[in-house]
Amino acid sequence: MKKIVNIIGAGLAGCEAAYQLAKRQIYVNLYEKKTIKKNSVQTLDLFAELVCSNTLRSTDLKNAVGTLKEEMRLLDSLIIKAAEFAKIPAGESLAVDRKKFSQYITDTMKENQFINVMEQEIIDIDSSIPTIIASGPLTSEKLQESISKFVGKDYFYFFDAVSPIIKKDSINFDIVFRKNRYEKGETQDYLNCPMNKEQYTKFYNELINAKITDTHLKEEKDLKVFEGCMPVEVMAKRGFDTLTFGPLKPAGLRNLDGTNNFAVVQLRQDNAANDLYNLVGFQTNLTWPEQKRVFQLIPGLENAEFVRYGVMHLNNFINSPELLNEFNQLKSNKNIYFAGQITGVEGYVESTSSGIIAAINMARMINNEQQVIFPKDSVIGGLQNYIISTDSKNFQPMKANWSIVDPLNLIKKEKKEVRKEMYSNRAINSIKTFIKEYKL
Ligand SMILES: Cc1cc2nc3c(=O)[nH]c(=O)nc-3n(C[C@H](O)[C@H](O)[C@H](O)COP(=O)(O)OP(=O)(O)OC[C@H]3O[C@@H](n4cnc5c(N)ncnc54)[C@H](O)[C@@H]3O)c2cc1C
Repeated sequence: MKKIVNIIGAGLAGCEAAYQLAKRQIYVNLYEKKTIKKNSVQTLDLFAELVCSNTLRSTDLKNAVGTLKEEMRLLDSLIIKAAEFAKIPAGESLAVDRKKFSQYITDTMKENQFINVMEQEIIDIDSSIPTIIASGPLTSEKLQESISKFVGKDYFYFFDAVSPIIKKDSINFDIVFRKNRYEKGETQDYLNCPMNKEQYTKFYNELINAKITDTHLKEEKDLKVFEGCMPVEVMAKRGFDTLTFGPLKPAGLRNLDGTNNFAVVQLRQDNAANDLYNLVGFQTNLTWPEQKRVFQLIPGLENAEFVRYGVMHLNNFINSPELLNEFNQLKSNKNIYFAGQITGVEGYVESTSSGIIAAINMARMINNEQQVIFPKDSVIGGLQNYIISTDSKNFQPMKANWSIVDPLNLIKKEKKEVRKEMYSNRAINSIKTFIKEYKL
């Protein structure tokens, strides 16, 4: 009997998944609506469009996204092949001619005898057929409704409101202290950055005057429905005291010597390894350089290293920690897999990598083979592990970075650059072994 999979969305993750399935001789119906109906950022009729920047970021293996690309190359990624084909000079970045890149992928899809391209909008999910949902961060409205119904409306989100995340080892613990508000709870989990009036005033003035990104979610009127996730700078503009009665309120957070503070910024643990912390209530539209400049004014964060900056934009994604297993398969319906940005990974390369995981496992499921868990010491596996095992209540999308892979147990303290190289070598070797072991 012919083995068939439906893929919804011929974006980066969808095309990658189609290619990986076709390679394994599984027929694919690849559904794409853009030639009939484009979203607000699409301009080409071609598949796998890079809607914003034309770079797949660093090629330096010491950078987690550089290593991720190498892992994907080893896994025979179509998107990496297309990027190499359409490459243009950009120093250490893998930048591409976007039209040439998308044309290569579109031709590959249309010429492959296992792939049947269907230019239509899917509005309902037919769970009787194995399906990969890869409809991206701007999934069409009707499909959004149908996904919401399918997974539960509390598990499908429409926009990102992310606070910046910083590395714990970049926090100044001479200033920052550990305490929960009113010391409630068995363990004291929050880190607190205390501010006196002078420090707060300086921070406040810089915050309200900082440069914001060009986004459609920046004015109060745009954010009405998102009151609980108001960007910190918008809230600050309501008045000098608004933050000190809101996320920066000092009540119950006296210093360890018992003295009071004018304001306190709280940091909350962000990952199980306890080496990342997010700034509570700091979802923001500030540009990235401005976030670094203004947030480093917070006492104790003067040398804060940001693993991701805050953002606030339209982004459809599901609550993967609640919904998905390690194969990108829906826990509640084994015929449905998700891939791409909709799973809560973020970025072109990351989205594509999740298409590889979904397709390889979908193929194995169809062939009655054991599905495979990508190694957690690789970037692809670390990222997958992050999206399914992080705290589901505070789940927000994540890019590739070294904090999400299994930590190295180092006997002696190595320099940062040496450490990164060790992480990268281990990740690449691990993927090579994995490919060999499972004959991928
Ligand atoms: C405005 C914006 C800018 C971004 N800029 C960057 C950037 O510069 N760098 C970066 O690394 N990442 C960026 N991202 C994040 C992300 O990496 C990209 O969106 C990436 O394209 C996600 O890949 P994907 O395969 O998950 O989704 P997509 O590439 O968006 O593919 C999804 C496809 O599904 C189709 N589709 C949607 N609904 C349906 C339906 N009902 N039926 C059939 N087809 C459907 C869409 O037309 C689309 O072609 C950006 C995201 C957004 C929203």
